[in-house]
Amino acid sequence: MGSLSSSDNELKVLIVGSGLAGLTAARVLREHHAVTVYERGDAAVATGGQGIVIGCNGTKILDTLGYDGARVGAVPLYRFSVFDCRNQKTEETDMRFRERYGVDMFGQKRSDFRDELMRLATAPSVELGIKGEPAQMVYNTAVVGLDPEEGVVTLSDGSTAAGDVVIVADGVHSRLRPTIVGEGCPQAKKTGLSVYRVAVSLDEANRALSDGGLPPPPWWQPAAHRNAQIFLNGPEGSRRFVTLYPLRNHTYFNMSCILATQTSSKSTTESWNADGDRGKMLEYFGWDEGLKRILGAAAEVKTWELQDLETLPTWTRGRAMLIGDAAHAMTPLQGQGANMSIEDAEGLRLLIAGDAPGEETTMRREDVPAILRRIESVRRPRTASAVARTRVTHASLSISEGFRKNNEFFMSYNGIHAALADRETREAEEQQQEVKLE
Ligand SMILES: Cc1cc2nc3c(=O)[nH]c(=O)nc-3n(C[C@H](O)[C@H](O)[C@H](O)COP(=O)(O)OP(=O)(O)OC[C@H]3O[C@@H](n4cnc5c(N)ncnc54)[C@H](O)[C@@H]3O)c2cc1C
Repeated sequence: MGSLSSSDNELKVLIVGSGLAGLTAARVLREHHAVTVYERGDAAVATGGQGIVIGCNGTKILDTLGYDGARVGAVPLYRFSVFDCRNQKTEETDMRFRERYGVDMFGQKRSDFRDELMRLATAPSVELGIKGEPAQMVYNTAVVGLDPEEGVVTLSDGSTAAGDVVIVADGVHSRLRPTIVGEGCPQAKKTGLSVYRVAVSLDEANRALSDGGLPPPPWWQPAAHRNAQIFLNGPEGSRRFVTLYPLRNHTYFNMSCILATQTSSKSTTESWNADGDRGKMLEYFGWDEGLKRILGAAAEVKTWELQDLETLPTWTRGRAMLIGDAAHAMTPLQGQGANMSIEDAEGLRLLIAGDAPGEETTMRREDVPAILRRIESVRRPRTASAVARTRVTHASLSISEGFRKNNEFFMSYNGIHAALADRETREAEEQQQEVKLE
């Protein structure tokens, strides 16, 4: 059977979910294929104002897709500083990664980040200087069923749509995951940690401090927080900490307040953007009056019980493939969930170029299942390792140690073609080694 799409080389791609994974996948594939994205929410879904850190692995890929950090006021992060609950600096780690990995890591507002990905997925091709057509967005339309072998999805209005490829990027609580994984499909589990997330305006926080007659804490002084990711440890044994970093050209700060769930409010919910209890947040994280004032200046408080997912036995069935949190949800303790989602989406380049980077090859409908399996063969082991590394950090709550140990693993990734070439080299070397031993 030939392609379902009109042009010979063009596949019809259906993407489920317009989160960070789905939109990046849409941008990658729109250059060569006809892409439709189904989103159960509206255009502004999941655009909570909190921050996100994109590491060098994510930045390298986004740069190749025309991502414009300046449009969203992305702030490069050069340092990681740790303070104790008495505001004494206990550690500082250099994160000037440009020399080592060619790019920086950035803090950005999550909603801005998604808006820019949306632009890359849907802007006219001429604006982006690329070929192909913009992805078609279909909002307020949940995908409620999937036939992975045929590539047919059932939509919430009862209609169906058929594609050559179905990319399932429906997030941590993926409804479609079991249709790909089959019986015994794991579900995301709570990890025993919760987070209150706020984005604080620098001006409002400074006003709140001066209204209270308080000097800025040392970590809130511009010399300390400029281009820095800061980690505030709670009182000893509390298992509470706050991470903060600048957004939007330093005018906002993301503050993620993490605590062991057993001491958290029972009202924390599983929803992405659940409203958090401001009073509880200030009670748990108000060990310093200045910190309390700064957190209290946030316009909205969101809360989230951190969850992750066991490594799945497979990500693909027929012509459907899981990516993003649907495939490998992890806690944010290494700041890599979205980065791994971007890496997954980049892996879909094999649907354009096959194993020949830079070239475009003819793709036929019948090639799709094997190509998806080849992408999975790179992505599934790497994300399994990312989840395992994040879990180690999670158990010890030693974030800075985790960063130091894992930076090279995370940041040195150079995309699917480089990963395949590395694997081939490794396998050839192993074979040579075996021959020598015989
Ligand atoms: C507190 C916190 C902080 C984080 N910080 C970082 C960080 O600094 N760096 C980092 O790399 N990662 C971070 N992450 C992780 C990152 O946010 C996730 O890994 C990322 O959002 C996953 O993207 P996704 O597209 O797979 O899922 P999502 O962003 O959840 O998107 C899924 C989309 O699918 C839609 N959808 C769901 N079901 C259906 C359906 N049946 N039909 C149609 N549409 C559907 C949803 O509405 C949604 O739009 C953080 C996570 C948390 C909780």
